[in-house]
Amino acid sequence: VKIVSTSATADTGTTSIEAVRHWHRELPGDHRIGLVPTMGALHEGHLSLIRRARAECDQVALTIFVNPAQFGPGEDLESYPRTVEQDLEAAREVGVDLVWIGDRQELYPDGFSTHIELPQLAQRLCGASRPHFFAGVCLIVLKLFHIFAPDRAYFGDKDYQQRVIIECMVRDLDLDLEVVACPLIREPDGLALSSRNVHLDPAAREQALTLSSALFAAEQQWRSGLDSAQKIRDRALMELSGEVELDYFEVVDRNDLSALEVIDPKLGAVACLAATVGGVRLIDNIQLEPR
Ligand code: AMP
Repeated sequence: VKIVSTSATADTGTTSIEAVRHWHRELPGDHRIGLVPTMGALHEGHLSLIRRARAECDQVALTIFVNPAQFGPGEDLESYPRTVEQDLEAAREVGVDLVWIGDRQELYPDGFSTHIELPQLAQRLCGASRPHFFAGVCLIVLKLFHIFAPDRAYFGDKDYQQRVIIECMVRDLDLDLEVVACPLIREPDGLALSSRNVHLDPAAREQALTLSSALFAAEQQWRSGLDSAQKIRDRALMELSGEVELDYFEVVDRNDLSALEVIDPKLGAVACLAATVGGVRLIDNIQLEPR
């Protein structure tokens, strides 16, 4: 695995971005490049994206960067888990070709001032409580798309709203790449895998389990024939531990994320939630498949 970082390229007088561009230029023209953007602290969810990219592409590039632009004041930018050595080991094991470790100063040098304005889609759900979040996500993702010029970019449906917004950006800006949506990966007991789970103490982890229980209950209601979003939501919320601070639980349209009252059986929906548990903000969702 080729590792590209500012510290690794400093001696050669090039930046890590130039090093990636150089790597790209040296590849045979018909090589398909798969990009997997992450904030590191890799788990099976990330690895599922990498394996999919490995199966579908000639070259797999993994990026690790805890992107300050997507954290608001008082959020967990500094305490976000960082496990670079383990991540490199995992990347080697799954057969990544290039790991790029982003550098704050290189990506956002003094004087950096461009911002991205996003559609309505980005104001809903997580956008309501984290107003700058998706603009920050799209900023780094767009930079990565320009730096890596991938043929395919892999995103997990764990971050369903993020994936939908990135697809919208790719369409709107005529970006020449395919966004590949990968399924959400859970622990055997149902908890959605997240880098932030390491911050859950045992009691909080128990409480966090009720988030996936609520979503499973929603799906069960949907499967058994209910189509009222309100009723599905009410039933789901009964599962939640009293210790969970719910930010939102919404049943929304799969494409534009607008809140639904009645679910069209032909279209299905997605149930999304965000909550703080033991001081850790978690998100999760479940597909209510067309029936
Ligand atoms: P992050 O490092 O949390 O920014 O996530 C990087 C990528 O991995 C994003 O596309 C996420 O949606 C994806 N991802 C994170 N957790 C999971 C999971 N449990 N299942 C599937 N994909 C995930």
